[in-house]
Amino acid sequence: MIIGICGAGTMGRGIAIASLLVGHRVVFFDIHQGAVDSAVTYVKGQLAKSVEKGKMSAEAFASVVLDGGDDVGLLKDCDIIIEAVAEVLDIKHSLFQALEAAVSEECILTSNTSSISIASIARTLQRPDRFAGLHFFNPAHIMKLVEVIRGPRTSQHTVDVCVEFAKDLGKTPVVAKDAPGFIVNRIARNYYNESQRIVMEGASTVETVDTLIKGLGFKMGPFELMDLIGVDVNLDVTKSQWQQFFLEPRFTPSLMQQQMVDAGLHGRKSGRGFYDYSPNE
Ligand code: NAD
Repeated sequence: MIIGICGAGTMGRGIAIASLLVGHRVVFFDIHQGAVDSAVTYVKGQLAKSVEKGKMSAEAFASVVLDGGDDVGLLKDCDIIIEAVAEVLDIKHSLFQALEAAVSEECILTSNTSSISIASIARTLQRPDRFAGLHFFNPAHIMKLVEVIRGPRTSQHTVDVCVEFAKDLGKTPVVAKDAPGFIVNRIARNYYNESQRIVMEGASTVETVDTLIKGLGFKMGPFELMDLIGVDVNLDVTKSQWQQFFLEPRFTPSLMQQQMVDAGLHGRKSGRGFYDYSPNE
């Protein structure tokens, strides 16, 4: 299959690796050509490591087809599109409008949104039946869970294609309802928000909270995880969920996180977030 990935950032890269590992062809589209170029280099580098580890054959690596650019028309032959651009409804609406004009009638359109309702993204589509949420977790080539979100106008055929596609990638798809935060992010909001409240109250430190949580068996503490996700992306998700729950107090975003985003401390991708990732650290 030909997989179109819109947004060559953190998630787009991981989804590309997962797709290429099972033999799909991948085409990136990003508003920044530079993002596509660096994603192609990164993805190929990761696949080369998979060859070294014996997870991919040298023949399979040699036959990888991965390209892309800043022209949405490059996606015209795709069988399925996964949108992984900024978590902002207006941006997603404009992109899907352009996609509907570019792709075939059979192409399935999906969004990797973490929190925006599938109903609201689909609102401006001419064919909402072929649209669903396809929510991968970070890092997308490693994490097994994928939420397939059925919007009120999503067809059964679209859900079936998404479930089969996820299984084909070796993932575990779970069909979720179109509720704010779906399943996992709704639960996870408390993980991030309460941890930040503890630090803002002075009850503990970032490092101590992470250490304690890992002592309970979690792979990463909440602050390490926010740095991996992107502090900015994580805040957008919190804001979106809070708004969709009519400003429900328990989902209120944190002022500390807003200040970090304002300061450009976006986590690993910017070199610093709750922790410092500069080379000399
Ligand atoms: P990111 O900031 O790492 O990358 C986004 C990319 O989209 C950038 O390369 C940017 O240039 C590009 N972009 C922005 N507007 C665009 C447009 N109009 N058309 C084409 N490209 C555009 O973001 P990310 O962390 O990969 O998140 C992408 C989506 O995935 C968001 O909806 C987010 O909520 C969701 N998501 C993120 C995570 C995570 O852990 N980061 C996990 C699950 C889901």
